[in-house]
Formats: sequence, C-alpha cells, structure tokens
Amino acid sequence: MALMITEECINCGACEPECPNEAIYEGGVPWELNGETHDPISDDIYYIVPEKCTECVGHYDESQCVSVCPVDCCVPDPKHQEDHATLLEKVRKLHPDQKFD
Ligand code: SF4
Ligand code: SF4
Repeated sequence: MALMITEECINCGACEPECPNEAIYEGGVPWELNGETHDPISDDIYYIVPEKCTECVGHYDESQCVSVCPVDCCVPDPKHQEDHATLLEKVRKLHPDQKFD
C-alpha cells in the first residue's frame, strides 16, 4: 500500500530527503518518473506519488516518512492497496540497477 500525506502536514520538509524512492515532493513541485514530468498532486502541502511509494519495502523495515514526520500525517492510502510482493516488484522497477530480497 502506498502512503499519503494528510492535510495536517505543516510543510516542514523533513520527510522528502528520507524517501529512498524520491516519492515525496513539496507542494506545487512537479513529480518525475522515467524521465517524464507530471503535474503536482498537491499545490499546498507535501505529497507522495503512489507510483513511487513502496512503503520503503526493499530499503527499510519501517516507512521513513512515518518515522520522521513530527505530526504523524503520513498514513496508508486506502486507494492504493498493494501486498508485499507487489511492492517488491515496484521497488525493483524503480531501481533496476539494484537487487532486493
Ligand atoms: Fe517514501 Fe517510504 Fe514514505 Fe513511501 S513510505 S513515501 S517509499 S519514505
Ligand atoms: Fe509534512 Fe510530515 Fe513531511 Fe513535514 S514530515 S513535510 S509535516 S508530511
């Protein structure tokens, strides 16, 4: 399951550099994947790109954004439910040059 950022975000920016997939963007900043640029998902608060969030599977045992967020506003996104195998497949596609068990 990808995570999402709720409206309680205080725009502190702590989560963005911690994401191993560069799935977190500041509000209003376009996101990128495979050389393509896409419109921001949010203009006002930080946001997570579902296509790039793997719940940190492959990199860490815990979701890094959840660990660092001071207001606990990184939560599971019910619209993007994925099992562990799907998340592992996703992280492999995001980092084709790395191996994940
Ligand atoms: Fe990035 Fe991990 Fe947070 Fe997903 S759970 S946005 S991969 S830090
Ligand atoms: Fe928003 Fe939390 Fe990220 Fe800070 S760490 S920008 S409050 S989601």
